[in-house]
Amino acid sequence: MDNSNSKTKYFLDLDKKNTAHNYKPIPVVIKKAKGIWVWDVDGKKYLDCLSAYSSQNFGHRHPKLVNALKKQLNKVILTSRAFCNDSMGKAAKKLCELTGYEVFLPMNTGAEAVESALKIARKWGYEKKNVEENKAEIIVCENNFHGRTITIVGFSTDPDCYSGFGPKTPGFKIIPYGDIEALKKAITKNTVGFLVEPIQGEAGVIVPPEGYLKEAYELCKEKNVLFIADEIQTGFCRTGKLFASEYEDIKPDMTLVAKAVGGGVWPVSGVLSSWEIMDVLTPGTHGSTWGGNSAGMAVLEAVCDLVKEQDFSGRARELGQFFMDGLKKIQKKYPDKIKEVRGKGLLVAIELKVKARPYTEALKNNEPVGVLAKETHSYSIRFAPPLTISEKDLTWALEVIDKVFGEI
Ligand SMILES: *Cc1c(COP(=O)(O)O)cnc(C)c1O
Repeated sequence: MDNSNSKTKYFLDLDKKNTAHNYKPIPVVIKKAKGIWVWDVDGKKYLDCLSAYSSQNFGHRHPKLVNALKKQLNKVILTSRAFCNDSMGKAAKKLCELTGYEVFLPMNTGAEAVESALKIARKWGYEKKNVEENKAEIIVCENNFHGRTITIVGFSTDPDCYSGFGPKTPGFKIIPYGDIEALKKAITKNTVGFLVEPIQGEAGVIVPPEGYLKEAYELCKEKNVLFIADEIQTGFCRTGKLFASEYEDIKPDMTLVAKAVGGGVWPVSGVLSSWEIMDVLTPGTHGSTWGGNSAGMAVLEAVCDLVKEQDFSGRARELGQFFMDGLKKIQKKYPDKIKEVRGKGLLVAIELKVKARPYTEALKNNEPVGVLAKETHSYSIRFAPPLTISEKDLTWALEVIDKVFGEI
């Protein structure tokens, strides 16, 4: 599409001139969103197949979540943790009941939840496992994505993430994902934690071999190593369970939540764990000015209620199967372009044999209604629509995908 005289072009230029160039977005400028649909500044409608990296699992501006937020905005929004508020405890109790954990540490963004877990694991190592001071090691996986802080990018294996940002924080060991023998070899007496994504989202929806997570978990139990599941992208029904870890019947020592736990209306994140682990944090040892703020906690409580009321996981499983079957049929039609279809629930990706960007642009440009999906790295396209999508709308999306692969 030629944008040269459009409002879209105006806003793209405005961004380009005034904000850091740390993203290469699909050139669409959204001004309105509802449920699974978004509209751009020129009035065109699109299906959102990214859901803000699975933050919008319940659809944009879910009425129950917006109402919970609005109600709270009229009372109190932020007190800081220097004082207490009447939302945090209530929300944490509901979240713990829903997830089966004893205690919640509230933060705001995903990277903060990860950093918090790393701090907790180290302190737990020194205080409860008697690891010698400054010797704690944490094991992570190749192709991980855990966020963008200076420590986290230091254990990324993606040069775009770490290059130019050294020196790296010491104390991290990187092993291949899905390789239980590598984990066995990497664990030493100084190992305090194993940080892992149950499915690697940013890497292109990489599902590990069946049984891997369970074996890794059992190995961690045997060696007294904390198993830390980063469910920031996989959690809250996206993969067809509340947490993807449930597929292998494991209960990680720490589970990290963000993205969908804020219902797409407020940034909420945090660490779920047991008191035995969490009580290494004592007053003054960790904090966040906005962590546990009234608005976010009101939203969190509403998200917990919503997930209890409606079977989003069941929907994700059924629709995910339907969608993957459809994508596999498209793969059969274009075997020279599509290498693989993979995923779980409604966290799905296709890996191409050719560069993905022309396809994501063509999906966006489909007329009269576009499909928004983003390539991850150069060759994969992730499809993760809100879990509220209907089979009819998914069928339409499959038709558009089929058409685009026929044309390019
Ligand atoms: C998005 C993401 C993060 C980082 O979350 P931010 O809110 O962007 O800091 C961490 N881990 C995983 C698995 C993610 O998908």
